[in-house]
Amino acid sequence: MYKIAVLRGDGIGPEIVDQSLRVLNFIEEKYQLDFDIKYAHFGGKGIDEEGHPFPESTKSIVDWSDAVLLGAVGGPKWDQAKDRPEQGLLSLRKHLGAYCNLRPIITFEALKDMSPLKLDQGKNIDLCFVRELTGGIYFGKKERIDDLAYDQKQYETYEVKRIAKKAFELSKKRAGKICSVDKSNVLMSSKLWREEVEKMNETYQVDLNHMYVDNAAMQLIMNPYQFDVILTGNMFGDILSDEASVLAGSIGVLPSASIGDEKGLYEPIHGSAPDIAGQDIANPIGMIMSLAMMFQNSFERTDIYDFIYKNVNKTLEDGYGTVDLKLDRKVTTREWTDQLIKNMQS
Ligand code: NAD
Repeated sequence: MYKIAVLRGDGIGPEIVDQSLRVLNFIEEKYQLDFDIKYAHFGGKGIDEEGHPFPESTKSIVDWSDAVLLGAVGGPKWDQAKDRPEQGLLSLRKHLGAYCNLRPIITFEALKDMSPLKLDQGKNIDLCFVRELTGGIYFGKKERIDDLAYDQKQYETYEVKRIAKKAFELSKKRAGKICSVDKSNVLMSSKLWREEVEKMNETYQVDLNHMYVDNAAMQLIMNPYQFDVILTGNMFGDILSDEASVLAGSIGVLPSASIGDEKGLYEPIHGSAPDIAGQDIANPIGMIMSLAMMFQNSFERTDIYDFIYKNVNKTLEDGYGTVDLKLDRKVTTREWTDQLIKNMQS
């Protein structure tokens, strides 16, 4: 029995989550699994229904679950709220102790022409960011004193060790290759980062290289094929993973996982897209691939991840796409999932 907390969220969140749950139902039957699903209010919906973006009732459902599936949160309606929906997201990640963000950059063959870069046909970018999520400059001491402002960037050894361990373990399941990104030529915290990563490699013995963040930003565009696992800190990871996301062709196709030592949170990388909400035109792929990541990471069912990936790829190859994709057969969110499920059945 797998217990899943489902937070549909705001904007396009409910539309895409509902499609991913149709895929979940299919998987339940095909693989003879047993899922117990509980829904909870979160984000703007949490504010509207229970006066808080991450209400207590949602906390207990999250605590009950083995994994959390999240749509997206936010929207203009709550921009002036005391606790904004996005604040709920930070609290949820903290509550889960999710210090590691996994962001695979998957390029589907059928979408290669949509990338702003001229990608090599027949050659696939397949890389995954392992980004530290709860430390670094975003969480350091910050202050404004008249004409002076500062943000402190710091990392403690234990923080580097635990995120590096995630990257090394992941790399053992992938190509055995890690690029650790830092700025150790000028930052003390990066020196510590590099030292700890080097030390850990004495145990794991993978193909490890280090790259300064400015060079990494350039290399991602010049030769993205060279990367497999990219290990980096909070701010560098934030910037580089957004840069790399354009390689996939649409923000709508990319999934993510935020994990710690216990359960994971799975959500697409995009926001609640209020401009297209309620029209059944949002791309459900990022959400469906986030569900696939849940099987891969929380339930150790890589076979189910592969099954979902293969059929998403096939549906795109068949030419079906939502409006954000340059494909011949334009379909709605629901119709795209119909085609995916048809492919899964055959
Ligand atoms: P966004 O990602 O919601 O949208 C950016 C653009 O991409 C929009 O044009 C949108 O229509 C398009 N888009 C996004 N997802 C798509 C999909 N699945 N299919 C097709 N098109 C898609 O970013 P934004 O507009 O800056 O933010 C909107 C709201 O979402 C804000 O309130 C923001 O704070 C919030 N947000 C939430 C999360 C999250 O829940 N993790 C992340 C980012 C932004």
